[in-house]
Amino acid sequence: MKLRFLGTAAAEGIPALWCSCEYCRKAFELGGKDFRHRTGYLLDNDTIIDFGPDFFSQSLTYGIDLTQIKRVLITHLHEDHLSPVEFLFRKGNGFSQTENFIDMISSPETFRHILKVTGEDLETLKINPLRTYGGEWIGSGDMQIMGIPADHAAGAWAMIYLIKRDNKILLIAHDTGDLPENSWDMLKGIKLSAAVLECTCGLASPDLRRGHLGFNETLRFRDRLAELGCITENTGIFATHFSHNAHALHNDLVNAFAPHKIETAYDGLEITF
Ligand SMILES: [Zn+2]
Ligand SMILES: [Zn+2]
Ligand SMILES: [Zn+2]
Repeated sequence: MKLRFLGTAAAEGIPALWCSCEYCRKAFELGGKDFRHRTGYLLDNDTIIDFGPDFFSQSLTYGIDLTQIKRVLITHLHEDHLSPVEFLFRKGNGFSQTENFIDMISSPETFRHILKVTGEDLETLKINPLRTYGGEWIGSGDMQIMGIPADHAAGAWAMIYLIKRDNKILLIAHDTGDLPENSWDMLKGIKLSAAVLECTCGLASPDLRRGHLGFNETLRFRDRLAELGCITENTGIFATHFSHNAHALHNDLVNAFAPHKIETAYDGLEITF
């Protein structure tokens, strides 16, 4: 599989909208890998994970052909991960010429949110809903997907995802604190080809483990995966979803993570596994 990181920031982006903090000022001057859009991914040119407010510009930057997209996974309904209005443009009749249905995998609450914001039904938006609260493999084309409940925010029904294709398994795990024990059980023994872990609170709150993770807890998350037999010497581990409140520039994160064999993601990074 081939995974492109379209954005690697938490909700406010980096430099954060409206922010005059020291880290945003430095990021603004540095540019490059210190510019981070809101989190999202393109997988194998046919699958999108999260569809937030930066998706349109990301699609132009990385040449994403939306007519080839077969499925969209939404981790949860927070505004930095889901912009329902973008799906309104699938209704045709002067908006877009859209013939094909796409699969969408998420919690029932995500679909309710899309219906509420767009005022349309899923048939009109040409969305085939694959509703899940996690814990089961769901087929979509040649891909198998399992949601696993995260510990993120009340009412958000956030999930992390296992994605299986061609005998490879990817874990996408952002917007989560330490997992509930039931969720760790679901991961037991699953050999990961690559794991993308969050580190929203970075070096500023290294021991945070509820709702989001700080640096030390990202390491602990990785260690727990290793204890459960999910990580082999070939598993690539990546950290992403950084907030300006992490108090870390890209190089600070690289210096912190590199000794632990974790790669710091940046916008545009593409990995093949
Ligand atoms: Zn987020
Ligand atoms: Zn800031
Ligand atoms: Zn969130």
